[in-house]
Amino acid sequence: MSSAMRTRVTEAFKADKDPRKINLGVGAYRDENGKPYVLSAVKKAEEVLRAANPDKEYLPITGLADFTKNAAKLAYGKESAPLNTNSIAVTQSISGTGALRIGGAFLARFYPKSNVIYLPVPSWGNHTPIFRDSGLEVRGYRYFDKSTVGLDFKGLIEDLKNAPEGAIVLLHACAHNPTGVDPTPEQWKEISNVVKEKGLFPFFDMAYQGFASGSTARDAFAVRHFVEEGHQIALSQSFAKNMGLYGERVGAFSVTAADPEEKARLESQLKIVIRPMYSNPPLHGARIANTILATPELYGEWEGEVKGMAERIISMRERLYDALSSTHKTPGEWGHIKSQIGMFSFTGLNAAQTKTLAEKAHIYMTADGRISMAGLNANNIDHFAESVNKAVRG
Ligand code: PMP
Repeated sequence: MSSAMRTRVTEAFKADKDPRKINLGVGAYRDENGKPYVLSAVKKAEEVLRAANPDKEYLPITGLADFTKNAAKLAYGKESAPLNTNSIAVTQSISGTGALRIGGAFLARFYPKSNVIYLPVPSWGNHTPIFRDSGLEVRGYRYFDKSTVGLDFKGLIEDLKNAPEGAIVLLHACAHNPTGVDPTPEQWKEISNVVKEKGLFPFFDMAYQGFASGSTARDAFAVRHFVEEGHQIALSQSFAKNMGLYGERVGAFSVTAADPEEKARLESQLKIVIRPMYSNPPLHGARIANTILATPELYGEWEGEVKGMAERIISMRERLYDALSSTHKTPGEWGHIKSQIGMFSFTGLNAAQTKTLAEKAHIYMTADGRISMAGLNANNIDHFAESVNKAVRG
């Protein structure tokens, strides 16, 4: 989905004066009252920081070292071999977008085997411009099957098998945006095998760790499996969703290496890429995230809050599924509403139906039928389900 599409949805929503209006175009979590949510662990970390009153000196080029160490531990797991042998080059980044941009520029410049990157079709709308602007050639691999509203696994495997040797492949680690459709653990294992056979370079985008299933370990399954299988990987992490730090712009980019010497070389290359972009990253958000990651009580509280956000979204999926399939007996198959993962859902509604929903029911979503589950709550879900039922029945 393009940001232009989302801007149009937000504009139309703002202009609508009906009290029943619902905005399902937003890409940020909303609580059960439809309001933005600042995590309690974040507020407490900010109190800790206020009391410590740290100075505002520049960070090094690769950012706050404690933060990047703890971010890597969160993603790779404390048992991870490259982590425990000091073989992961990691830098702080300006959230997930910045991590992807550093990764794109780094690979375009220092990865000798290919300048082609394969993205799933569809993918997050900013992926193509990020990688194109980084100097890579962007191609697509099949991902979403409209007819089943599920994964086109056969197409995905075929396309990866036909990719040129050494090409880069972008994989959404969990909670694929925009479809909400993820491979199963078994499918991830097959993807790992094909990536290995073809010598492809896996680049994971992990923007939703913990936010998808409620467990940071479960959501990191694909990343950790690839590392255990001996792949060298690149990884983009964002703390926008799972810590609710959107505008603080907290993220990390990392590349695994064979040993500490290779890690040191990769780190110098990352510095060569980053220094002329922005010299060094901002302090405050990384300090907040690090305080949470490094303080056991805050970490525990944070884990509970991520789980709470994930579970609220999952409960909305269940209520919506029940309302459509049982209460209204809406024509069609709605199982995907429950099986999809993360904040977004491809409903299968078409452009005409989304237009009807906006005009008749004051419900706003993008024309591709994608909704943000976080925009639904106990106060508006009945109106939403009833309206979808009417729109589908025409
Ligand atoms: N990757 C994916 C798949 C996303 O959905 C997003 C945010 N919508 C991002 C990366 C980047 O977000 P941010 O820069 O806010 O961390």
